[in-house]
Amino acid sequence: MAAKLLEGKPIAENIKMALSAEVAALKVRHGRGPKLVAIQIGENASSAVYIKAQKKCAESIGIDYELRVLPETASQSEIENIIVGLNKDASVSAVIIQMPVPKGIDSKKLLSMISPGKDAEGMHPENLGKVLSGHYNIAPCTAMAIMELLESTGVNLYGKEAVVVGHSEIVGKPLALMLLNKFATTTVCHIATGERGALPEHVKRAEVLIVAVGKAGVVKGEWVRDGAIVIDVGINKVGEKIVGDVEFDIAEKKASYITPVPGGVGPLTTTILMRNTVEQFKAKL
Ligand code: NAD
Repeated sequence: MAAKLLEGKPIAENIKMALSAEVAALKVRHGRGPKLVAIQIGENASSAVYIKAQKKCAESIGIDYELRVLPETASQSEIENIIVGLNKDASVSAVIIQMPVPKGIDSKKLLSMISPGKDAEGMHPENLGKVLSGHYNIAPCTAMAIMELLESTGVNLYGKEAVVVGHSEIVGKPLALMLLNKFATTTVCHIATGERGALPEHVKRAEVLIVAVGKAGVVKGEWVRDGAIVIDVGINKVGEKIVGDVEFDIAEKKASYITPVPGGVGPLTTTILMRNTVEQFKAKL
């Protein structure tokens, strides 16, 4: 039986609708609304696509969006000074630094310099720490988008075998914590799991499988357990096509739900960025 497609767009539209109403009400009550500032350092084709999507999404919700473009040659201390200024600026609700940054710039230091109360991406160590405790409003956008997709299936995660492939700070690690908070029995696989040849045995156990690696076909369709929920986070360009990390054609015959790539996690991530921005605005009121 073919899997149901788990598309991000309808869920994103529902969240955007609720956010628009909330922002409109906040503006009436407080005479001002949330503002997101994006810092872009140098030119980059992929971040240009994200910036365009962010601007469009922010405007559709009523969030003020400002892009600060810095030259490729901007120094670490110049960028840090800008962040310090934005941290002090009461009109700014949240800040995002577009990745990647030019060589020689310490992006981790920049991320930790954004005040936790203005962190749009949920990547500040203090905000990541709150994910550990399970009490948070701000968290890494992609991980939260994945949790929204899982919730939309109505499947109770309690006691389920969840396998996360990929352990990055932006996706795999925070997601594993979120799954644990829902009492899923959670396994995290990574490059060493792959090198050991142990990926198939873990994937085959997964009732909930999330793959965030960035290598087309790293998870073979035949490994997918019958009835599994499959969330494919990967974005890979193969020829002219964008594909995920999971062999879709075979996996969709075995899974109960599967995300398309593109169209699954991606459309939701930007919406969650806006939800984080609204949460940051509300927290300061
Ligand atoms: P990353 O490079 O930071 O991490 C990759 C992870 O994959 C690491 O944990 C690594 O150990 C693991 N890995 C590498 N090779 C492996 C193998 N053979 N077997 C098992 N694990 C292996 O990447 P990231 O930033 O987490 O992104 C992962 C993918 O998700 C990329 O394709 C990225 O473009 C995509 N992504 C999509 C969104 C979205 O909104 N749709 C957001 C973030 C990332």
